[in-house]
Amino acid sequence: MKSTDVIVIGGGPAGCASAILLAESGKRVVLFDRARFPRDKVCGEFISPAADDLLTELNVLTQIESCSPLRLGGVAISAYGGPEVLCPYPAQAGCREPVTSLSFERLQLDQIFIDRAKAVGVEVMEEHHVYDLTLENGQVTGVKVRDPEKHEFEMEAPLVIDAGGRNAISLRKFKLRKDEKGNHKIALAAHWQEARFAQKFCYMHISRPGYSGMSPTAGGGANVVLVVDHRVIKGKNLDEAYRDILMSNARRRKFLKDARPREKVRAIDSLAFRVEPLPVGGLMLVGDAMGFIDPFTGEGIYLALRSARLAVDSALKAFTLGDFTRRVLAEYEDRRHREFNKKFILCRALQFLIANRFLCKKTVSLLERRRDLADALVGVIGDYLPPGKVVSSAFLIKLVMGFFDAEGKGMLSEGCGQNRTPELKQTPASTDIQELE
Ligand SMILES: Cc1cc2nc3c(=O)[nH]c(=O)nc-3n(C[C@H](O)[C@H](O)[C@H](O)COP(=O)(O)OP(=O)(O)OC[C@H]3O[C@@H](n4cnc5c(N)ncnc54)[C@H](O)[C@@H]3O)c2cc1C
Repeated sequence: MKSTDVIVIGGGPAGCASAILLAESGKRVVLFDRARFPRDKVCGEFISPAADDLLTELNVLTQIESCSPLRLGGVAISAYGGPEVLCPYPAQAGCREPVTSLSFERLQLDQIFIDRAKAVGVEVMEEHHVYDLTLENGQVTGVKVRDPEKHEFEMEAPLVIDAGGRNAISLRKFKLRKDEKGNHKIALAAHWQEARFAQKFCYMHISRPGYSGMSPTAGGGANVVLVVDHRVIKGKNLDEAYRDILMSNARRRKFLKDARPREKVRAIDSLAFRVEPLPVGGLMLVGDAMGFIDPFTGEGIYLALRSARLAVDSALKAFTLGDFTRRVLAEYEDRRHREFNKKFILCRALQFLIANRFLCKKTVSLLERRRDLADALVGVIGDYLPPGKVVSSAFLIKLVMGFFDAEGKGMLSEGCGQNRTPELKQTPASTDIQELE
């Protein structure tokens, strides 16, 4: 039976990042993906500013930049027909360059990752489906694979990294995936052409029956993701329902009225889930395989890359010790939990807010007046400010006091008020905006 040092399942951002870092550390790495690249993936394709450092470390940023991706200057948010509030990324301490996020197609991004993995010596086996894991004495010892000709074979390694995404084989084998109760969400996504945006920002529009994220892309296009309760579109033609719901919001209509989707809409359902702790050694989960939050804040790619970085640190320790038991590998899970837990709490709080019309409108209008709060939130969403800046009692107190301020008490206002998109300076009531709510 063939053996290697590390087997990686999945060639998305998490799998490739893990494979690249391990191969660069001298490990023999075999990466299996059931797809043939270039392969596409439903995604908002908006990459957090903090990912730049990781992309640089992986030696792929120059290649990405050579494809002339769009750089976005922040996030614009509107809630339930309220004003569209522009939240530019705040400056990063010690950095003179303006902070930006990338808008870049997954088709290209994931191909660049795969090419880099091959370049550093990873044995990449496309169209190879890992259909099971092998186990011995409570340790994963390798994988069972089906090749493109449907031949089956096994490979062994002291360490398997499962980066198979939302439907990773480990989640099914060990029944680790816990879907959030009552979550009936479905995401509908397509690339558009001829979209016209006021600014190079990521636009989040919250209204009934769902929210959308739109990122301008290079060449005048846009990536438009709509998240709704799947019961809203049951029995309907997906392309028509997607278009109708998008166009029912005047702010989206403004950008998309002369645009058209350049492909059929793609759907992905049951978004958020969490993952139980692994019951075995010899195995690590990275990227979406470790849990998924609804994509409102668009940080999945950053989390995938960062979790790979943390996993590789622990994997290298395990190699030094020659010990791949849970005891050693669990260090990665602890670090991952410590680093991401507050961010996950924030994401859940935002999902709660989105669903609550009154609080959501109040919060967005507060962000318009309180630049300090908007800066903290956008910096945390962009993954370059620590989540504790927002997931804290101090922030909550400022938020609540800000609500009182909104009633005209003038307690804390710094009178920012300059964040509106220029064209939308009139009060919403004075525009042609008719929200479906
Ligand atoms: C609607 C939507 C919008 C999103 N928008 C954004 C956004 O704007 N910004 C952002 O940062 N994130 C976004 N995300 C999240 C982002 O797409 C994911 O977090 C990211 O792709 C995770 O990367 P990954 O490497 O863990 O998994 P994936 O990218 O899913 O890669 C998994 C790979 O594993 C392979 N695989 C799986 N199982 C097997 C197997 N058994 N054998 C062999 N191969 C296998 C698959 O073929 C695939 O190539 C969005 C997600 C959704 C659903």
